[in-house]
Amino acid sequence: MADVVLKTCKECKQELPRDANFYKAGKYWQSRCKPCHNKSRKSYKRWVNPNPPPKKPRAFQALSFETRCSVIKKINDGVDLKDISRDHDIKYETLKRWKRDDKLIIKIDTKELSQ
Ligand SMILES: [Zn+2]
Repeated sequence: MADVVLKTCKECKQELPRDANFYKAGKYWQSRCKPCHNKSRKSYKRWVNPNPPPKKPRAFQALSFETRCSVIKKINDGVDLKDISRDHDIKYETLKRWKRDDKLIIKIDTKELSQ
């Protein structure tokens, strides 16, 4: 009869016959016995970056807050897009597209507010 190799589970500290009670991952034996291994697997969480890099504002949102407010105010006041375009050095075509696509809104990053 072959020697039975015993291995201690790092979780439940039981010394068990290794080959029957532990999983093998490639060359290596898992440090937990099968029941403990399965239990701990269930608690695995997908790693989530706690500090995700801030999203770079794009398009209209990349303009300064003052500019955005001013553009929106002028549009509400009925100022011609061509004039707004000239005043703020924004391409007329771009401005027109933003307006058409409802991009002329101010998105406020709630993280910014809490800082
Ligand atoms: Zn165990």
